[in-house]
Parts: sequence; C-alpha cells; structure tokens
Amino acid sequence: MTAFESLKAKVGKFSLANKKLLVPEMGRTVSHLVGATMRSFGVDAQVMETYKGLQLGKQYTSGKECFPCQVTLGDVLYHLEREKERLGEAFRAENYLYFMAESGGPCRFGMYNKLHRIVMDSMDGFSKTRIASITAEDSYALGGLMAPEVRTNFRRSAYVGLVIGDVLDRMLWRTRPYEQEAGLAEDYLEKALSVMCQEMETHGRQKRFHRILSTLEQVVKKARNLIDPSIPPKPLIGMVGEIYLRSHRQSNQDLIKLLESHGGEVVNASISEWINYVSYDNMLKAKREVVFALKKRDLKSLRLHFRDWLKNRTELAYQYFRMDQIYRRVRKHLPIHEDHRISTLERQLDNDRLFSFKIGTEAGLSIGGALEYCLHGYDGIVNVFPFTCMPSTMCSAILKPILDRMNVPYIDAAYDGTYQPNLEAIIRTFMYQATQHQQNRLARSA
Ligand code: SF4
Repeated sequence: MTAFESLKAKVGKFSLANKKLLVPEMGRTVSHLVGATMRSFGVDAQVMETYKGLQLGKQYTSGKECFPCQVTLGDVLYHLEREKERLGEAFRAENYLYFMAESGGPCRFGMYNKLHRIVMDSMDGFSKTRIASITAEDSYALGGLMAPEVRTNFRRSAYVGLVIGDVLDRMLWRTRPYEQEAGLAEDYLEKALSVMCQEMETHGRQKRFHRILSTLEQVVKKARNLIDPSIPPKPLIGMVGEIYLRSHRQSNQDLIKLLESHGGEVVNASISEWINYVSYDNMLKAKREVVFALKKRDLKSLRLHFRDWLKNRTELAYQYFRMDQIYRRVRKHLPIHEDHRISTLERQLDNDRLFSFKIGTEAGLSIGGALEYCLHGYDGIVNVFPFTCMPSTMCSAILKPILDRMNVPYIDAAYDGTYQPNLEAIIRTFMYQATQHQQNRLARSA
C-alpha cells in the first residue's frame, strides 16, 4: 500500500465498536469527561497518559511541525509501546483506534493525523492501528463512528461533558488563588473530576442531565469552602491563544499556576468556545451559500444549503441552551467567570476591520476574546501558543498595538518544549503591570 493509499484507507470515520479508542489528553478535565461519555455509549475509550512520550514525538518529527503535533504523536507512540511491552505476543495493533480530529485550512491542524499515519506506518508493529478522525468542516459529524440512532444523543452528551469540564477548570481558577492552604484546590479538582466522570459514564447515555447537573452543583458548592474570604481580589488575567497549548498544562509549563504564583487570578478561554465557533462558522458559511443560490435562482442548491444552515443553527441553539443552563446552576454556588457568545466575539472585530471569521482559524476568537476581556475590566492579557503558530502570530500582530493604546498589559507566551530562561522575569514584570492596572481600575471606580 502506498503512503497515499494508506492515508485514505487508515485515516477516517471507522466504527468504534470492539476497538480500544485511544484519546489524547488535551485539557485534562474535558478529555476525561468526554472519554467517560464515550464509555457510557459502549465505546472502550481510554485517555492516554500525556507528555511522557515527548522524546518519541520529537524523534520522529523534523522540528518544523507544530508543537501539539509532536506532543500528540509522542503520546500515541508511547502508549502503543507500553501496550506492546505489557501484552507481549498478545499485542494486536489492529485492536486499537487512535483518535485525532482535524480541521480545514489555512493552518496545519488538518495535517497532524496524516503525519502521524506516515510515522506509524514506518514503525514496526503500529501500521495496523487506524486513526479515527472527525473534522470541523462538517461540524464534527460522527459518520461511521457510531450507529446512526445514537449519534445525536452522543453529540449532546459529549457537549455537556465538555462544558462540565470547562466549569471544573473555572472552579479551580476561581478557588486556587484564594485557597486556605496550598494544594487544597488541586486535590479537590481531582476528586471532583472523578465524581463527574462517574456521573457521565453512568448517566450520559440516557441523557439524565438533571441528575448529572445536581451532582455538579453539589461538587461546586463544596468548593466554596476552599476559599479564604480574607484574601482580597487579585489582578484578573485573561488567557487566549491556540486551544491545545492553552489547555495542555504540560506543554504550557503550567503557565496559569505560574501567573497565580505571581499574584494573579486567571481565566482561560474555554474549550466549548471552539465547538460553538465551529457550529457558528458553519452556519455562516451555509448562509452565504443560501444567498448565493438565491442570486443564481438555483433551487436545488438553495434547499441543500438551507438545510445545512438550519442544522448548524439548531445545534448552536442547543449548545447555548445547555451552556447557559450549566453556568446558571453552578454560579448559584460559586461565582465562576461566565463564557461568552461567539457573536459577541465577532462583534469585537469591528465589522471585519480587525480580522474576519471568513479567514478561519482561532485568531478571530483570540482577538475578539482578548478585547472582550478588556471590556470587562481585566488587568492583563496572555496569548499562549506553539512556537511559529500561524493564527496566534496574526493575533499577536493585531492585539499588541491595540492593547498598548488601551494601556492593558499584554504578553505572548510561545512554547516548543524547551525552557525559556527569562520567562520568570517576563511574567514577574507583566504581573507588576497588571497589579498597577488593577489599582488604577479600582481607584477609578472608587
Ligand atoms: S493553530 Fe497553530 S499550532 Fe495549531 S495547527 Fe494551526 S498553526 Fe499549528
């Protein structure tokens, strides 16, 4: 089989039945909750240990790839090697499916699974492990992955799992800077994650969301006790950037914790933001096609694109309904920071003057998100991304002068697995500026 034939035959929407599905860990909470939801639907999903195989990821790449591509490659190779050692003669590479989603251009995310395929094909024993992939191009349609009758329910349960993951992360960022004793909030998060995974695994398939959210409320309610009320509010830092790097704490060298250790409270952009954006963007694309079909008076195409628009519109409405419901129930007990609407972020782009969603990528979300943070009085913005990431570099070029004019402290934090010797000094200076920003803000509102 040639390399091109292999890409066609061994990367795609394969049935998950009777396979062990290997899921990379991106954001810890979200990956484990989505893994638990998959198990609820009978998929034998396992979230792989992460970052232990970085050396392998680097060994089989040239260094020009995006850093998340190296990390995820390392994760799957490391996992399969351990499985081979553990099972010996009984190891069967074909019993595993490796999950790696993709998106269209203009950036390189669509190429990760292709490169991973080429590397796995070149290795002894792993060429039979196929890569299960879904794409943002069709709003992550599940195609042949699952039986048609469970696909919609799975999408909806997985979305709820994802928002719960975001909420648990926000619970950590809301409590850790104010915790009564160092380490309490992180220990509590681990316990909370295990409880919520259990809930998703037991009730996800039946969509017993009322029951799941009641448990979540109890979990978040108890988290209030972690906070020492005598600690005054800290400068608020908004984080934007490339989704993998800002969510994967090993890759970003625990940047949120580092900012907290220098006196900040951080809010990172959520992972559901990306899912909402995909539905929103596909809805806009379908709308443009509808207008085009109307102009051409092409009824067949009009029907097709209208159906597509309606599908994405309905999906987005459902996602917002669930997101609002979950945040409303949680915020009764702990004032975690709310998530925003994608249309709100798009409005920040000033009628496409700063950037356009039509270009695609996460840059529009990061630019809009950073400006939205500023509007809500945040004291500093951090843009986190893999070294050489194209959308984040555009985002940096646009945000830097704007935030400079607005007097909002801003830094870029680029990572490639090496350690930047002056990072600590940069963060210290940034947090000093953010503290001054907070003092000025408070003085103005006094
Ligand atoms: S967003 Fe950046 S890091 Fe991710 S694939 Fe695109 S260019 Fe690479």
